[in-house]
Amino acid sequence: MYDVYSKHADDFINHEEILETLAYADENNNNLELIDALIKKAALRKGLSHREASVLLACQDEEQNQRIYKLAEQIKKDFYGNRIVMFAPLYLSNYCINGCTYCPYHMKNKHIARKKLSQEEIRNEVTALQDMGHKRLALEAGEDPVHNTMDYYLESIKTIYDIKHKNGAIRRVNINIAATTVDNYRLLKEAGIGTYILFQETYHKESYLKLHPTGPKHDYNYHTEAMDRAMEGGIDDVGLGVLFGLDKYRYEFAGLLMHAEHLEAAFGVGPHTISVPRLKQADDIDPNQFDNGIDDDTFAKLIACIRISVPYTGMIISTRENQETRERALRLGISQISGGSKTSVGGYYMPEPEDENSEQFDVSDTRTLDEVVKWLMEMDYIPSFCTACYREGRTGDRFMTLLKNGQIQNCCHPNALMTLKEYLMDYASPETKAIGDKLIAREALNVPNEKARAAVLENLRLIEQNNRRDFRF
Ligand code: SF4
Repeated sequence: MYDVYSKHADDFINHEEILETLAYADENNNNLELIDALIKKAALRKGLSHREASVLLACQDEEQNQRIYKLAEQIKKDFYGNRIVMFAPLYLSNYCINGCTYCPYHMKNKHIARKKLSQEEIRNEVTALQDMGHKRLALEAGEDPVHNTMDYYLESIKTIYDIKHKNGAIRRVNINIAATTVDNYRLLKEAGIGTYILFQETYHKESYLKLHPTGPKHDYNYHTEAMDRAMEGGIDDVGLGVLFGLDKYRYEFAGLLMHAEHLEAAFGVGPHTISVPRLKQADDIDPNQFDNGIDDDTFAKLIACIRISVPYTGMIISTRENQETRERALRLGISQISGGSKTSVGGYYMPEPEDENSEQFDVSDTRTLDEVVKWLMEMDYIPSFCTACYREGRTGDRFMTLLKNGQIQNCCHPNALMTLKEYLMDYASPETKAIGDKLIAREALNVPNEKARAAVLENLRLIEQNNRRDFRF
């Protein structure tokens, strides 16, 4: 039975409710009166239910679809301005005992190079990432109770936060690891993680069980209820995601929104972020073996519909996607992107020898971080290296409250400018710096509050003189 408050996955991601939702969306995909009302409702910026949003995703009327895209762009601007938060993945280990059929780290893959970083190797990786200019990392690892223990993660997080190299520092460590216990989530929270990320992969239980034939991840309910346990363990920023291509995208979309509704209902705070990975080529994996792949137009529509349905949730796109796709996605709702990423274990410090491959997927956007930053600024985006909310305790419902009433802009815009200035001073090429300095000079004058504007200008001047403090609002 569908119950948004229930702690059981089968209730809050209820299969019958999703089927009824899809049938309702099919019946109404040309109901212009209803579609018009739903777009107007979305324009109030309070979000849409999974049923309402599913009608818009199914809408086939081109004129109405253009309205949806336009609204997504506007909502993106209203909540996130022109800031794009930058991050990089850091693969700690690709040992894994699961049998996920779409991932090259699955246990039966005998020809992938298995690696786990030592603390010394983590130091090397993080120093290389700091030298690129990164301040925010997403740790990634397979599931393996022998190699990838909670103690290993905790030690690694401490190592990363302790590394101070030139002006570099990793100020926010997010983590994407297997579903675990409330006690372990509590330990991760105490270790100072930012967001706990766990992709559902697919919300379709029957498909999930087939796609995860062996290993602990086979337990659909334990996996799907992980965010509830994370929240019980005190982690109030959680990141959802689906691997699009595994099952029908409309089913996944409804499930994803139901998951967000459940977290909001049960804990008073929805997901901090939603990621939108698509299945990609990788060692031992051919995406053509999966017949639910989505084309670029469908992908764009999905992003726009997520944007208007959960306007206050950050959206993430990785280097799985190429420059062109990322450019379109940024306009429609994406607020965080990775840059200069390596998806191998140990790939930042030392390129892998030709005969070794430990990558999780082939990267489509292979540009350096400097190139990505320059590209963003040429489109008038402000690449932001800010991590202030997390360090100021603005997480969970405190963050959401500020975001929903629009006050977050007063912190984010100045912080984005100051962290971009630090990046330009410390890491940018002369060409990128020249573009960025012009952009910052213009944008600093757009800080609405007079007192804040004066403080930003003063801080920018201090950064320019290399007189550093931990500048943040
Ligand atoms: S998706 Fe995760 S759990 Fe599954 S094989 Fe890959 S690393 Fe392991």
